Amino acid sequence: MSSVEIDLHKKLKQYFGFDQFKGLQEGVVQSIVNNHNTFVIMPTGGGKSLCYQLPALVQDGVAIVVSPLIALMKNQVDALRGLSSVEGIAHVLNSSLTKNEVKTVMQDIREGTTKLLYVAPESLTKEEYIDFLRSVKISFVAIDEAHCISEWGHDFRPEYRNLRTIIRRLGDDIPIIALTATATPKVQEDILKNLGITDANTFKASFNRPNLFYEVRPKTKNVDADIIRFVKQNPGKSGIIYCLSRKRVEELAQTLQVNGISAVPYHAGLDAKTRARHQDMFLMEDVDVVVATIAFGMGIDKPDVRFVIHHDIPKSIESYYQETGRAGRDGGEGHCLAFYAYKDIEKLEKFMAGKPVAEQEIGHALLQEMVAYAETSMSRRKFILHYFGEEFDEVNGEGADMDDNIRNPKKKHEAKDDVAKLLAIVKSTKQKFKAKEIVNVLTGKINALIKSHKTDEKPFFATGQEKEGKYWMALIRQALVAGLLKKEIETYGVLFLTEAGKNFLESPHSFMMTEDHTYETTEDDTIIA
Ligand code: ADP
Repeated sequence: MSSVEIDLHKKLKQYFGFDQFKGLQEGVVQSIVNNHNTFVIMPTGGGKSLCYQLPALVQDGVAIVVSPLIALMKNQVDALRGLSSVEGIAHVLNSSLTKNEVKTVMQDIREGTTKLLYVAPESLTKEEYIDFLRSVKISFVAIDEAHCISEWGHDFRPEYRNLRTIIRRLGDDIPIIALTATATPKVQEDILKNLGITDANTFKASFNRPNLFYEVRPKTKNVDADIIRFVKQNPGKSGIIYCLSRKRVEELAQTLQVNGISAVPYHAGLDAKTRARHQDMFLMEDVDVVVATIAFGMGIDKPDVRFVIHHDIPKSIESYYQETGRAGRDGGEGHCLAFYAYKDIEKLEKFMAGKPVAEQEIGHALLQEMVAYAETSMSRRKFILHYFGEEFDEVNGEGADMDDNIRNPKKKHEAKDDVAKLLAIVKSTKQKFKAKEIVNVLTGKINALIKSHKTDEKPFFATGQEKEGKYWMALIRQALVAGLLKKEIETYGVLFLTEAGKNFLESPHSFMMTEDHTYETTEDDTIIA
């Protein structure tokens, strides 16, 4: 062990009271104290904050922590003050401070008392702050929720785009630490490029949460009754139920209450006091269930949430992963149950209608992944992990049997010839088409795009017409997850062959296809307001 390591362990104990680093923390901390640009991808609860807090506490100068959420910053600052019992050890700098408060912050930084300074990205654009920060020693800049930088993330924030320029103005060679809990390969690439840290030491923890059970049920008009039954089967357990609209939150919370379930609503339309009270009631276990919009959950660290129900399907796998991730943080059981009706997807699409075209296309692509997840019959865990660029062995992997599709497997059949047909068409159409178009080619549907490429005159046109479009779509999804096909994200989903796909075409082998669910789109009572 080097002397730095020994010191870090001692500091870990001294400041945080922990005997050991968790997961990849030690490597990350080492990388930061050695002044390297560092990229940390860890699921929620992985212990990201300590990754930059500890280096900040042991290094000279002040670390700037960029975070999008004022509430989260405040929590962290309070926690740090508690740990060190030095009031000025951490500060938030933002526009709500009075002149005198800003003065105190600046003085504490100048005197070297402050080791961590939390700022929102928009505050960093203030010339006055930039001038001041240029005059002090900065140990590093940590960018929390770094996926906000990417349009391909689930929470794009344009102000994150200027960070690189601002950090450059703060001083030469200031190490940058980017942290995120949600990063598909595309988002990861965006983060590194945008911040200009392609040389960063990257630490990626597994996103597998083996103690979470994933389940999707068709959403019918009886969804409320289904939810009530589920909650009653889990008496006394803490759970979160997510709805898309405030109205639905209110209605469902009431329905649960009249059915004898202790539940409170939570959404941004409630006044701050009520919100805080309901949150506390949930944390203190005065109520079992909180019915909420996505406004609830950021920074909520209740370890024993036993279930997360999605009354409405969220807009991306990232959101879904994040929201379900609030279950079972203590390692105990966590049931993630989503109710799915295709109708809800159409509603979400309508929502996007007014947005700029590029944003709509991205939103649509993210939503399609969500549909694929909801409709798949393969291992849900494998599906999610694949989405995050991670391999998962659906037979022996940790938590492999923790999903509905594995517990109640759907039928499988040999699809070797169909896969070969599909891949050959992707190849023959010169890898220019998205999944939907490939399905049209297979089933022989002529449209303007197909006509313009004269694809309808090709010998392979309509060679898959004995099967339904839905079948081919399912096969494409499974071929994607199996790594035979890939989607080109820049062109919003054009399919192309991977090396494995090319090999398959040369010597086709067995491919057991899982038969997908067919969800009837039943009338439902969801109101998105
Ligand atoms: P994230 O930001 O990745 O969601 P947090 O930083 O909030 O995660 O940490 C999650 C939890 O793990 C917190 O309760 C924190 O106190 C705990 N934790 C972090 N590091 C350690 C460690 N080395 N040993 C034990 N617990 C830790």
